[in-house]
Amino acid sequence: MTDRRQFLKGGALACASALAPSAAAQPPAPAGPRPARSPKARMTLTYKPFTTSLRHVFTIATSSRTTTPGMLTEIAYDGVVGYGEASMPPYLGETQESCAAFLAKVDLSRHSNPFELETILADIDRIAPGNPAAKAAVDIALHDLVGKLMNQPWYNIWGYNPAKTPYTSFTIGIDTPDVVRQKVREAAEYKVLKVKLGRENDHEMIETIRSVTDKPLTADANQGWKDRQKALDEIVWLKERNVQFVEQPFSKEAPLEDFAWLTERSPLPIMADEMCQRLSDVRRLYGAVSGINIKLMKSTGMREAHKMLVLARSLGMKVMLGCMVETSCAISAASHLSPMVEWADLDGALLISNDPFVGTTVVDGKVTVTDRPGLGVALRA
Ligand code: MG
Repeated sequence: MTDRRQFLKGGALACASALAPSAAAQPPAPAGPRPARSPKARMTLTYKPFTTSLRHVFTIATSSRTTTPGMLTEIAYDGVVGYGEASMPPYLGETQESCAAFLAKVDLSRHSNPFELETILADIDRIAPGNPAAKAAVDIALHDLVGKLMNQPWYNIWGYNPAKTPYTSFTIGIDTPDVVRQKVREAAEYKVLKVKLGRENDHEMIETIRSVTDKPLTADANQGWKDRQKALDEIVWLKERNVQFVEQPFSKEAPLEDFAWLTERSPLPIMADEMCQRLSDVRRLYGAVSGINIKLMKSTGMREAHKMLVLARSLGMKVMLGCMVETSCAISAASHLSPMVEWADLDGALLISNDPFVGTTVVDGKVTVTDRPGLGVALRA
């Protein structure tokens, strides 16, 4: 991360070009693209492993951990640097080694125009199957670069109103009642809490939280439920306790018919998470679930996440935006889509103690984007 001066210089140049008056009595030039690039400019990708440290041990239905392996990326082009990130929770199968091996195969020098996002990212997708977080690390850095070259934040490029960002939920992991109560008190700022279910103590978790607060909850079973009638009974019980929706009730391998059965009868929306990775999953899941949870580390980044959002909404499906434990880089990237979703679960950077970036934050529980170009992130001073 040596390009802070370059980053600042890039920002200053963009600002100067936007504000320089062309002549007296003329209206100021609009904030437009930066000046034309040098024809010889080429993109270069660099990357380094980065491990996020969690503030608390984090437990879901299938695992516990205190760190999350990741990779930070930069794409430099003619004096401008875009930042990206991969986050790779161990249970998803990618590692810092697999990510570095994938990134070593990325050759951006084959592309002279960074604005050709479709071509470049399709090329990267074809390098190897899988590797969604590694692909996202390139996609996010490229989006940051392109936004900076255009001197616009991505919500403007996509045409979304930054005032319409949602509240984010704050996740309460599975834990002992004392720790859960403590975490709920610490989360006073958040308007919605997300509860991890799918173990034997589901009712204890909910009742413990309800002993401290009556704010709305969302529930994530993380594939932990097996029986569809029991799941339905559970959902009815959750609805009576002001839970708003249930994420991934059954295994992603369970028959779609089980999800359709539950969705048809459930008084709460059923959201697909682990079973909804990429664009092709949206059409497959249409009719079987109420909506989808989009995460950049599953979708291979912002480009495909945006397509999933547009497709799901056009099909009348609900959309939520989720994250892994990740830095403010990937959280900021996702936040530019958030004005268009029903629910956001973008608390990943709030769970870590070594965030190298500043960018999108949470203010009074609401996802709050910056007006800086690209992702709107900067290296923490
Ligand atoms: Mg989930």
